Amino acid sequence: MNIKQPIIFQRAEHTVSRNKINPNALKVLYRLHNAGYSAYLVGGCVRDILLNRQPKDFDIATNALPEEVRKLFRNCRLIGKRFRLAHIVFGKDIIEVATFRTHHKDGQETHGHTTHQGMIIRDNMYGSIEDDAWRRDFTVNALYYNIADYTIVDYTGGMEDLNNHLIRMIGNPEQRFHEDPVRLLRAIRFAGKLGLAISPETEGPIVTLSHLLTHVSSARLFQEVLKFFQEGATLETFKLLQKYSLLEQLFPQTTQLLSEPITVKLLEVALGGTDQRIQEGRTVSPAFLFAIFLWHPVVKEILAMKGEDLPQHVIYEKAIKTVLKKQTESLAIPRTLVQSIHEICFLQYRFICRYGSAPFRLLDHPRFRAAYDLLILRHAAGEPVQDIHDWWIKFYNGTHEQREALVKETSSSNPKRKKRKFRRRRSPQNKPPVAKDSPE
Ligand code: ATP
Ligand code: MG
Repeated sequence: MNIKQPIIFQRAEHTVSRNKINPNALKVLYRLHNAGYSAYLVGGCVRDILLNRQPKDFDIATNALPEEVRKLFRNCRLIGKRFRLAHIVFGKDIIEVATFRTHHKDGQETHGHTTHQGMIIRDNMYGSIEDDAWRRDFTVNALYYNIADYTIVDYTGGMEDLNNHLIRMIGNPEQRFHEDPVRLLRAIRFAGKLGLAISPETEGPIVTLSHLLTHVSSARLFQEVLKFFQEGATLETFKLLQKYSLLEQLFPQTTQLLSEPITVKLLEVALGGTDQRIQEGRTVSPAFLFAIFLWHPVVKEILAMKGEDLPQHVIYEKAIKTVLKKQTESLAIPRTLVQSIHEICFLQYRFICRYGSAPFRLLDHPRFRAAYDLLILRHAAGEPVQDIHDWWIKFYNGTHEQREALVKETSSSNPKRKKRKFRRRRSPQNKPPVAKDSPE
């Protein structure tokens, strides 16, 4: 498809009305328009309104140069070095205004820098609205809402694709995936979250080109995974990533375990629950989701160290560290997040130790709730943790007195513990308690 003249959809022919547009974005559009520039809403916001969804952010494209935009707005910041973008700041709300740009001539954009929207900005040149449309990724992302007459301008056939529920790459899919392999993930993300199918010619090369993701920086891949985690279709997206051989580029250790039904079950139960939370407007912590993906690789490492004469807590620590180190080779997970994932996994060990004041202290741990939720999911997935699971449910939901009684009962009913105390005095290398249903 190569439409030269755009199709113009009059106001009566589409559903983008001004009351669905962020008032700050409207202000920016009107100020540009009143100053004599052309001004369009473009990208995800137009697509989402047409699909009757709430847009995440509102992006504007214009023929005004960045400096010209700055002159119009006191609350404007210019960002980016080679390709400058204007951020119009309204408190927490930021409206991004980009000058129309044209496609880089040799099509080699893989090493470019990206904006917060993820567009590549190195070596771009300013262009016309038509150039700007053809350099976007999918046809449904290249629809322009014109504030001058409330029409939608469609150069690439996006409106028809949207009506047919299709994600279609603009131009030659293979070439465009080579230019920027993140588009492989974007195709999956939009298909998953919007419930659209990927058109056959766009879908065709995905599996064969999945290896291209190895050329993408781990920082950019991490950002894409975060988006997957926050968009309310994590289960569907997970299945699509698996189907198109893309999951192994993001979570290699987890992918290796997908032949194990228990790992698939854990992910399905956890991701299904996550999507429900997001639909209810609740938040999900990325640390928790990473812990879900990494828990079974951690268990595998723990099992691999079974013969080693090391205390259990050391084995857990080592296993978690090993898995996180490997994982951060694929995704640049920030250090604070790594720490939280580590804690959620390590708390699975601390759940085993239910003596004295330990369980009470655990309740105050900042990662307790996430770790407790992981324990519940492990049980739901079929891990042999019935005893610990039931105990912690009783403890968590009990009154202070009930909790004290539970701890007392556990301490006195464990003859091993008394013996171990005795042994520990004689041999300091003895291991701390291990529940019979821990992963080892
Ligand atoms: P979301 O709802 O996730 O924000 P979006 O379509 O708005 O979806 P953004 O990442 O915010 O996605 O990008 C805004 C627009 O910039 C896209 O709609 C698309 O037109 C263009 N774009 C973003 N990334 C790329 C890319 N890698 N290649 C080509 N065009 C891109
Ligand atoms: Mg967007």
